[in-house]
Amino acid sequence: MPVDVADPARLRDALALLDEAHAVDLHTDTFIATRMAGYDAAAEHRPRHRHFVGHVDLPRARRGGLKGALWSITTNPFRPASSRQRTLLRNLQALRTFACTTPGAAWVTTAAAFDDAMASRQHAIIPVVQGANCLGDADSFASVGATDVVAATLVHLLSSALAETSTPLPMKRLWGPRGLTARGRALVGTMNAERVLIDLAHASVDTFWDTIGLHDHSQPLTVTHTGLSGVYAHWRNIDDAQLKAIADTGGTVGVIFHPGFLGPPAAAHDGIGLVMRHLAHIIDTVGEDHASLGSDWDGFIVPPDSLKDPLGLPLLVAEMQSRGYRPERIHKILGGNFVRCLRALRPG
Ligand SMILES: [Zn+2]
Repeated sequence: MPVDVADPARLRDALALLDEAHAVDLHTDTFIATRMAGYDAAAEHRPRHRHFVGHVDLPRARRGGLKGALWSITTNPFRPASSRQRTLLRNLQALRTFACTTPGAAWVTTAAAFDDAMASRQHAIIPVVQGANCLGDADSFASVGATDVVAATLVHLLSSALAETSTPLPMKRLWGPRGLTARGRALVGTMNAERVLIDLAHASVDTFWDTIGLHDHSQPLTVTHTGLSGVYAHWRNIDDAQLKAIADTGGTVGVIFHPGFLGPPAAAHDGIGLVMRHLAHIIDTVGEDHASLGSDWDGFIVPPDSLKDPLGLPLLVAEMQSRGYRPERIHKILGGNFVRCLRALRPG
């Protein structure tokens, strides 16, 4: 039964759980709007529509119970290689300055720092990268001085000198690789050595399995923002074999909030129901230790009205409660599963 938003008792229960939980969104692109348009994520916004950007700011995160997020840095792939490196470092510094100078925010690159942020009730800004080709010609994050980067996707919307994207671009294999390139294979090794969480969102099927073949399986892998093909077949989603491969490493998979990836157009109005179907599929297939939330807010998605910003989180939690999810399970989905991965890779 869908959540009745007018039922104050159910929302009160959801807010009480969120108050105790360490809810972490595995992917938000809010920093793109800050860089490109001067969007102030420290101030509360009331966007008139739910399209593309303006989904997240710290006041709404606080009110919705979102205690932290993987704040993604995306670098324009059309910049020359040398300029991409400088841009990455400049963006990383700008995000760090924002986290360190904004009241109520904290810069979090280890599990110990995450624990401190939760104890002091600060929003954990966890710096991550979308598209490792931001490294330019360098072969690792440490070698360019970007040791604060906690996680990175190998590839983004375009294929690169590292790997093949999942985006179904016409003739992409005529101008780009199939799966990982030699440099991409080397990068998997350096990310393992530097304990950077490898994020296989946007990876093509070949990139995905090439990485699984090379990856140090004592470290968790993630797909931070995706749907599940077992619920709805889409090029942007991962299938059950991929889901199991992530779970086998002790990693976790974040369900994206873009209805177009989660179900047919006729189902788009029921955003919470769609997200729940994908979460339930992860739980049914590999268990509750591998399900997370990865909204992709501010990543030019069009989220459902009920999940158009962090204020929708209590509705989602109320729906989990109404389906009989135990508090332990909800805590894992909201953040526990991600924090377990962070603790395994970067305890502090
Ligand atoms: Zn993305």
